[in-house]
Amino acid sequence: MNVLVMGAGQLARMMALAGAPLNLHVTAYDVNSAKVQHPVTGEIYPLTLEQAVAAADVVTSEFEHIPYPVQAVCEASGKFKPNSTAIKAGGDRRQEKALLDAAGVANAGYRIVQTETEFMLAINELGLPLVLKSALAGYDGKGQWRLKHLEDAALIWADIAAFMAGADHSLPQAIVAEQFVRFDREVSLVGARNEHGDTVVYPLTENHHVNGVLSVSLALPSEAALQQQAKQMFDAVARQLQYVGVLALEFFQVGDQLLVNEIAPRVHNSGHWTQQGADTCQFENHLRAVCGLPLGSTALVRPTVMVNILGEDAVNPAILSLPSCHLHWYGKTKRAGRKMGHINICGATAKELSERFSTLSALLPESSFPEVAEMATKLRERA
Ligand code: ATP
Ligand code: MG
Ligand code: MG
Repeated sequence: MNVLVMGAGQLARMMALAGAPLNLHVTAYDVNSAKVQHPVTGEIYPLTLEQAVAAADVVTSEFEHIPYPVQAVCEASGKFKPNSTAIKAGGDRRQEKALLDAAGVANAGYRIVQTETEFMLAINELGLPLVLKSALAGYDGKGQWRLKHLEDAALIWADIAAFMAGADHSLPQAIVAEQFVRFDREVSLVGARNEHGDTVVYPLTENHHVNGVLSVSLALPSEAALQQQAKQMFDAVARQLQYVGVLALEFFQVGDQLLVNEIAPRVHNSGHWTQQGADTCQFENHLRAVCGLPLGSTALVRPTVMVNILGEDAVNPAILSLPSCHLHWYGKTKRAGRKMGHINICGATAKELSERFSTLSALLPESSFPEVAEMATKLRERA
């Protein structure tokens, strides 16, 4: 089967790598250059979007910020999985919040804000601190502001207004003002739904962000009650969207309660550990779901840590001599802070994993991997 992916980044690349053993041929459409290309070699094919869509058996996506006209072409083909309602809900926080409310899943209190008057009203009604998020185009913590003190409101509004004025005007701009959640930790659930409505989910993954960007994900056997709570929320959201493919839910955990932070209608960075730690990786399961094949087991095979490589195109090759340590490069040009690759490291038990993670962290320079050593220490204390 031929699968066309909207977006030509690392997620399309890893789908292609996972699809090859199943004879699933993945082609990517780079929405920035409007070129159809091979997601691993970068070879360009002389095809228009319309021609590539016509030639594909299935059309899918690796990110949520796909221009609406491109989505319209995909949707009209009848082959777009997940559907464009799901992609748009991931790309527009207004639609995302409406979806979470409609699915009846807990999320942080919010107001949609377009004017300074609405902003002041939101502050009044929601209280401080607030997290202010651009409704459109946000990722890796970009397009966000924090308001802690009322006296900073005017200054922050000026910044937001300038941001909205400079943004793409083809879509109406707004921000979502959201109550700040004092969470105990952040976790995510990655799972897949097929066209019959069957779902499978991976164990909850614990995520650590540095400056709004995911740094480390940790997959251990999850606690049954929390896993069940997350699965129910996943099923509610996926059903609401008539979703087909891999979907990720990011949560704030407060005590033993989960609040959905946001959704990602695609394979997700916090699911990269599944390449070495799960029975079937998320990339294969996404392809299975969208191609109408049986879903694969999501069982945790061994505790795994994933470390993102940000802004570096080389690491100490000695890390490959560590047991169960795997390196995944994305073949991208180096840029400060850019996601360039990731490392998966596994252990038979949490204790073995924590020891290996400590050894690994000592081989990763603190300057390029901020807080990774601290996370390794924390895991060792817990294991
Ligand atoms: P991603 O790259 O995950 O798509 P994003 O830019 O869409 O990121 P969010 O996930 O909404 O942004 O926020 C980034 C991070 O900021 C969260 O992982 C969390 O650490 C923090 N954050 C976001 N919203 C809140 C909130 N309401 N309360 C507390 N912290 C928050
Ligand atoms: Mg996001
Ligand atoms: Mg997020």
